[in-house]
Amino acid sequence: MSQKSEIIILGNGGAACHCVISARENGFEGSIRMISNADEVAFNPMLGPYYLKGKIAWENCFPFGEDFYERYGVIRHFGSPVTKLDAVNRMVTCDDGDRFVYDRCLVATGANPTFPFVPGLAESNKAFPVRSSDSIRKLHNAMQGANKLVILGASLVGIKLAEIMKAKNPSAEILLVDVTNQVMPRGAHPISADYLRKYFEQKGISVLLGCSLEGLEDEGNTICCFFPESLIHKADFIAVCTGIRSNIDFINRDQVDTDLGILIDRNSATNCEGLYAAGDCSQGFNPLSGKQEWLGTWGNACYQGRVAGAVMAGKQLSFLGNPPQHVSPFFDWTYVQIGDACREGNGIRVETSGDPFKGSFQLLVFEGNRLIGANLINDPGSIAPLKKAIIQQRSGALDLVPDLITRPPHSHHQSFTHNSL
Ligand SMILES: Cc1cc2nc3c(=O)[nH]c(=O)nc-3n(C[C@H](O)[C@H](O)[C@H](O)COP(=O)(O)OP(=O)(O)OC[C@H]3O[C@@H](n4cnc5c(N)ncnc54)[C@H](O)[C@@H]3O)c2cc1C
Repeated sequence: MSQKSEIIILGNGGAACHCVISARENGFEGSIRMISNADEVAFNPMLGPYYLKGKIAWENCFPFGEDFYERYGVIRHFGSPVTKLDAVNRMVTCDDGDRFVYDRCLVATGANPTFPFVPGLAESNKAFPVRSSDSIRKLHNAMQGANKLVILGASLVGIKLAEIMKAKNPSAEILLVDVTNQVMPRGAHPISADYLRKYFEQKGISVLLGCSLEGLEDEGNTICCFFPESLIHKADFIAVCTGIRSNIDFINRDQVDTDLGILIDRNSATNCEGLYAAGDCSQGFNPLSGKQEWLGTWGNACYQGRVAGAVMAGKQLSFLGNPPQHVSPFFDWTYVQIGDACREGNGIRVETSGDPFKGSFQLLVFEGNRLIGANLINDPGSIAPLKKAIIQQRSGALDLVPDLITRPPHSHHQSFTHNSL
């Protein structure tokens, strides 16, 4: 039997919760039903590394709190994933067989880590992804007493994990492996990446680039990792940080426009009437490229969720997107990436100054005369002016809703900044 809800929200992360808050703040008084695969209060994956590092308590990784749902009048349907969404008949089906009809629906199911195809990897009991609360807990347990770790993927998450493990256990042997020729291939310019690699090596972390894992076998309490040229590396466990994929398998791609994620406009709306999407399951406009891209940050997910909530409540609101930004403390360094620091090709110019081993380092990327991205090391004072310059120089900046610029999306219940952790 199917039940009717006016608003249905699929997922229970930052995008989903901010949609609820915004719908209620904008006067929506009808029923809101949230459907989530996990039976727990909303978790913030971004805080997982801080918990692993011992900087915050486990309960602080759940920033909206237990009373959130009652406070905002949300009906919970937790513990069963959505398996089908029929956007024509406006019906959602869950794994437990329950079906719900909606007037308006937000898809905010986020993304999940992907495991590359490596024989033995998916079957291993000692290969851990880094994302959900469950995976962070398992990783936390595996880290206790571990001395040897392989990290597959030198992504931002991968190198964060290397730093955490080394800081917690200075005698740990850590091998960071990536198939590309640099660390952080998606956010760091190769020049900045090379400084980071040298710094990590100086801190005693082995970095193996341009190399792929060929196989894996669990062997009692250890795992055996097989690399090219008969190189065998034994470890206590392996953390897999090789990338993520939007959770949209339940979407009918004949109905809903998708690429890697669900394509949304500046109102978080999809091509289907009454259907919206936000956060890591979607592709919204990247203000720098003007294209619908996967933005993959907590801030963007929350903003997109808030816009969807307001629009579902009948308000006019749009979000132009924020340039991607990450601030990460690595040992004694602070690394920052803003905008698009990896762009290559005709008309792209790179300017560098300083040396992080002697103080600070700045790398600026220009397209023509327009600043489009930056990497900073040990130069936090430049974050605000550079971000401002990047935003001001992009086209259409004035379309931004002022409230969305001035009010941080995570300020609702509990406020965290990277620098404070
Ligand atoms: C280790 C790590 C570090 C990070 N660091 C940063 C950082 O420094 N800065 C930053 O901005 N971002 C960071 N991020 C990214 C940030 O956490 C995400 O961009 C953000 O959490 C996305 O929010 P979301 O609501 O779209 O998705 P999620 O937080 O993934 O929430 C998705 C929700 O959907 C539910 N769900 C999934 N599938 C289904 C289904 N089929 N049916 C029902 N429910 C489902 C999930 O259980 C979850 O509740 C980091 C991420 C990780 C993993």
